[in-house]
Amino acid sequence: MQVLIVEDEKRLADALAQIMREARYQADVAYDGDDGLYYAGNGTYDVIVLDVMLPGKNGFEIATALRRKGIHVPIIMLTARDDVRDKISGLDSGADDYMTKPFVPEELLARIRALTRRQGEVVFEEASFGDLKLNLSTCDLTCGAKTIHLGFKEFEILRILMANPKILISKDTLIEKVWGADSDAEDNNVEAYISFLRKKLHFLNSRVTVSAVRRVGYHLEETT
Ligand code: CA
Repeated sequence: MQVLIVEDEKRLADALAQIMREARYQADVAYDGDDGLYYAGNGTYDVIVLDVMLPGKNGFEIATALRRKGIHVPIIMLTARDDVRDKISGLDSGADDYMTKPFVPEELLARIRALTRRQGEVVFEEASFGDLKLNLSTCDLTCGAKTIHLGFKEFEILRILMANPKILISKDTLIEKVWGADSDAEDNNVEAYISFLRKKLHFLNSRVTVSAVRRVGYHLEETT
């Protein structure tokens, strides 16, 4: 699971990242609002821990901007004071949960588990786009009466594309999320798996295609 921490208090941010890694989550940190929005906008996080008071864009603005872009990743907002107005603004702007500093890390971890589990029940067991349904526990892809099994990398690529239908996903992002940041995978590895996926979509007679925007990235499109 991938967590983004947006927090300008460097010591707290780094401590949170450390706690996440100990809980075996992958954690990225952004130390200001503009970086936070940029990272979050690449859309492949499972949860975002978002401070309210930030240099650059504040937490409310970031949450609002993400929801407007159609990014529905769960957001837990952090604030320094237990201000009811902040809480209301946070939830209005699209946050899913709220924590007042200081807090014990175990509570944050518990909230993250609760949020991602809640998502898991609703969204994560099956992803869908157009006429496709992707079973997230078996890696089976179904279109109408036909079902095909996906290899793990094909599955991961399609899962990321389905979860972010309004974003162009770059090859670099796919390499980082599917192969890992320290892998030797290159653009042509991604291209090969995209081509496997396209063949499988064709086999399924799906109306969904993987479109490429040159030098920018991939996204799913549904032809009518
Ligand atoms: Ca702050």
